[in-house]
Amino acid sequence: MNNDIIKLLNLEQFNLKIEKINIAKVKNILNCYITISKEDIACPVCGYSKCNIKDYRPKKIQHSISTNNPCFIIYNARRYKCTCCGNIFYERNPFSKTFDKTSTYTIVSVLNKLKSHTKTFTDVATDMFLSTTTVIKIFDQYVDFKRPPLPEVICFDEVYLSRKSNYKYAFVMADFINCKLLDIYYSRHKDRLSQYFYKIKASERNNVHYIVIDMWDTYRDLATIYFPKALIVVDSFHVIKHLNEAIISIRIKIMKKYDNKNDSLETNDIYYYMLKKFHYFFIKEYDDIYDGKIKIPKLKTKWHKDEIRKYLLSIDEDLKYAYYLKERYREFSLTAKYDTCDNEFNELINEFQNSHLEEFRDFGLLIARWKPYIKNSFIRVNGKRLSNGPMEGINSRIKTIIKGANGFKNFYRFRNRVIYSINKDVPILGTPKK
Ligand SMILES: [Zn+2]
Repeated sequence: MNNDIIKLLNLEQFNLKIEKINIAKVKNILNCYITISKEDIACPVCGYSKCNIKDYRPKKIQHSISTNNPCFIIYNARRYKCTCCGNIFYERNPFSKTFDKTSTYTIVSVLNKLKSHTKTFTDVATDMFLSTTTVIKIFDQYVDFKRPPLPEVICFDEVYLSRKSNYKYAFVMADFINCKLLDIYYSRHKDRLSQYFYKIKASERNNVHYIVIDMWDTYRDLATIYFPKALIVVDSFHVIKHLNEAIISIRIKIMKKYDNKNDSLETNDIYYYMLKKFHYFFIKEYDDIYDGKIKIPKLKTKWHKDEIRKYLLSIDEDLKYAYYLKERYREFSLTAKYDTCDNEFNELINEFQNSHLEEFRDFGLLIARWKPYIKNSFIRVNGKRLSNGPMEGINSRIKTIIKGANGFKNFYRFRNRVIYSINKDVPILGTPKK
C-alpha cells in the first residue's frame, strides 16, 4: 500500500523511509499526509548525536504529479531538541528545499516542461496546477544562463520583438560550429551594442576568427572595431534574398502591364494569370519545383514545369533576361570557390551594374559594395560553408516564444527562457537565486 502511494506520488527516486502515509481527497484536491521514519541525526550546532524529538510541524508542499488533481504533501516535519546545547532543528526534508512550498519533484518537472519552446509559462502552470507566478519564480530561481566564451565563428542576427517594445529588434548571437545560442541582447542599436561588446575582454574578442552578418552596416562597423582579428562574412542567403526581391519587383512590373483590373484571377488576361499563379518559378530553386504535371485551371490542362517556365519566359524579353542573369548569380553563389571566384564575380557585378533594369543596377551596387565580405562566404570551416544557416532554425523558435510571451518587460527573463529552451544544455542552478 505504502509503495503504491509512493509510486503514485512519483517519489520512488527519493528512497524514502516512511513511518506513516495517508491520502485524502478533499473536493478535487489530493492531500497526502506523510511522516518519514526517524533517522539518527546529529545536532548541526554541536554535533551531539543523541537528540530528542521535540515536536512535529506540518508543512504544506505543493507536489504536482500528473493526475487530474492538484496535489499537496502535508509533511509532518519532525523537530529535534539537542540535549547537549539545547538547539532546536528540523530533520532533513526529503521533499523540498528547507522552506520551499514547492516540492523538488515539482520544480524539476516545471523546469523540464519549460525546455519546450512551444510551452508558455502559463501552459506549464496549467499542466502542473500551479500559478503562473510560481512557475515564473521557479524559472527565475533556477535558470540564469551565463554566456560561454566566444568561439571561433560567430553569427550576428536580429529578431523582431514587437512594435510596442522600446527596442523593436533584439540582437542575437550564435555559435556557427555548434549551432547554439551565445546570447540575446535587448537592442541592435549601434551605441547599445557598442557598450555590450566593449564589456567583453579584448583577449576574448580576439579569439574570434569569423563573424557572419547580414548586410547591415552597424554589424560590419562593430565587427571592424571590436573584432580586429576576425574576417567579416556576409551570409549568402541574404544576398540571394535581395536578388529575389529585385526579380519579384521586375516580375510584378511586367505582370501589371497585362492586368485587366479584373476581380477574378481566372478571367484576367492569360499573361497576368500565369505570372501571378506561377510567381514562385522566379524565386524558387528550379530543382525544388514539383517535377510532375502541374495543374493550370484557366487552361484546363496540366503542364510539366519545363513547359511552364518556357511559357513564362516567352512573355517578355526583360523578364527572360532577368531570370537568366539571376540564375547565373544563384549558380555562382552556390558553387564559387574562394580562391578562383574573382573573375566570374567581377563579371557578374559588371553585368548587374550595367543592366538596363533599375532593380538589377541597385543589386549590382549592393554586391559591389559588399564584395569582399560576400567572397568570404565561400570559405569553409570544418567542411561547412560560412553562413547564417544556424540562425534560421533558432530564429523560428524564438519567434514561437515571442508569440507566447506577454511583452518584454523583463528582457533578461525572456533571454534566459529563449536560450534555455533552444540550447537544451543550459545548467539548472544547484542553489536557487534569491
Ligand atoms: Zn547541540
